[in-house]
Amino acid sequence: MNKSVVIVGAGLAGCLLAVYLSRAGWTVDVRERRGDPRARGHAAGRSINLAISARGLKALRRAGLEETILRNAIRMPGRMIHSRAGAQEFHQYSRDPNHAIQSVSRSALNLALLEAAAAEKNVRITFHQRCVEVAAASGTVIFIDDSTQHTSSAVADLIVGADGAYSALRGIMQKNEGFDYSQEWLGHGYKEMQIQPVTSGEHAPFAMNPNALHIWPRGASMMIALPNPDGSFTCTLFWPHSGSGSFAEISGAANGRAHFQRDYGDALPLMPTFDADFDANPVGSMLTVRCNPWSQGGRVVLLGDAAHAIVPFFGQGANASFEDCESLTDALAAHGDNIAAAISTYELDRKRNADAIAEMALTNFVEMRDKTASRMFKWKKKLDHFMHAMFPKSFIPRYDMVSFSNIPYADALQKSRKQDAMLSRFGIFFLCCIFVGLWAALDMSSFNVTMSIFMGIVILFFWVGKRRK
Ligand SMILES: Cc1cc2nc3c(=O)[nH]c(=O)nc-3n(C[C@H](O)[C@H](O)[C@H](O)COP(=O)(O)OP(=O)(O)OC[C@H]3O[C@@H](n4cnc5c(N)ncnc54)[C@H](O)[C@@H]3O)c2cc1C
Repeated sequence: MNKSVVIVGAGLAGCLLAVYLSRAGWTVDVRERRGDPRARGHAAGRSINLAISARGLKALRRAGLEETILRNAIRMPGRMIHSRAGAQEFHQYSRDPNHAIQSVSRSALNLALLEAAAAEKNVRITFHQRCVEVAAASGTVIFIDDSTQHTSSAVADLIVGADGAYSALRGIMQKNEGFDYSQEWLGHGYKEMQIQPVTSGEHAPFAMNPNALHIWPRGASMMIALPNPDGSFTCTLFWPHSGSGSFAEISGAANGRAHFQRDYGDALPLMPTFDADFDANPVGSMLTVRCNPWSQGGRVVLLGDAAHAIVPFFGQGANASFEDCESLTDALAAHGDNIAAAISTYELDRKRNADAIAEMALTNFVEMRDKTASRMFKWKKKLDHFMHAMFPKSFIPRYDMVSFSNIPYADALQKSRKQDAMLSRFGIFFLCCIFVGLWAALDMSSFNVTMSIFMGIVILFFWVGKRRK
């Protein structure tokens, strides 16, 4: 039986899902609120670049798009940490130098996915279609064209809400009894800035080493920069919305400049458009959205940011959304005509993983803005890499599991917690051994006393280990 699907939203996830389902024999009707980015004069979405990693690349490969995307991507095998004094230090992400995340233009990625979807014979994409209502029982979705106020409807066997973090479809589902919903706003906002290409220098046309994700960690806030193929970098400031060092406090280009002089002194000379960028670019907000269930009536289902918007600090929002597309497509193939069963399988697979990456993304913000500059952090990373070299199968650092493998996020979170607990216990044990060794060497007590202390320490070691589990 030829089945039909309405996909609300032609963003990253909506377009990829359209490609998958069309190739699986579905009739696909994609409806997008904005105008067609292929037509002149339409904004192609937020002008940010994204870090795409193993999960996203695997999903793009499945659609035959990996090569196209990688052609204009820039490898980032590590972080470049910028100190206040302007010193730069490179930290490789993984022990394996071949492991790298990829900087890609968000709008170019969206465009490539949109073109791939539009090229499929079973896919129809309509723009200026804002979803305003859905009736799960009849499989009907209502849209309004905001420029003409014209109302239209679509009916399908399956309705997918891929309409982003502020999903209208989710908003409609929220009115249903039993629908759990939470949104957690981050106290920090973000603003984009630009580092322009240069004509001379070691990395020209890049003003800095392009093969790194640049970070200016400054405790409560930070700036990051990702390279673009034209030699520029898109910088993103992550500052608190209010209070000390916030967007509210540092308003206007003159204040921004003074702050930059102090905190990002090496970047400022590379930003000839600083004043215009600082004054004109808006401050965006970031939130974590959790909801349950992700579906209604065995026919309507959420996917991507609509189901699980997360903060961007692990660079996994799009990667996770692409994994959703794979999971839903596989579940639909496995369950044949039973769409409701397929949706349940998809939710079971993805919900726990979405919760896990949401948590890891929040933790990674503190790591990026605060810890990356510390010596302790560097030692911990070195220890992680050493342990991975010694036990490549059983010890895998969290960053490697999340960015360079397809291990489910929930398993990666659980495993990395266990590894950290084990390293802490090992550290305590090591310190205790040194202490006891010194005690014995200094001959400050009899053998019995030394052994009692040693046993006490061993008990403490296991007690700490148990508490951390
Ligand atoms: C600052 C920032 C940096 C990020 N960096 C990364 C990164 O490095 N790596 C990474 O993997 N992810 C990153 N992300 C996250 C990533 O952008 C999202 O996870 C991803 O775009 C989600 O894809 P989506 O298709 O679910 O939603 P979107 O890409 O937001 O697409 C939703 C689509 O639905 C349309 N729409 C909205 N409402 C309606 C409606 N009512 N009717 C019809 N259509 C509608 C929208 O116009 C849009 O086209 C970042 C996000 C931010 C904010």
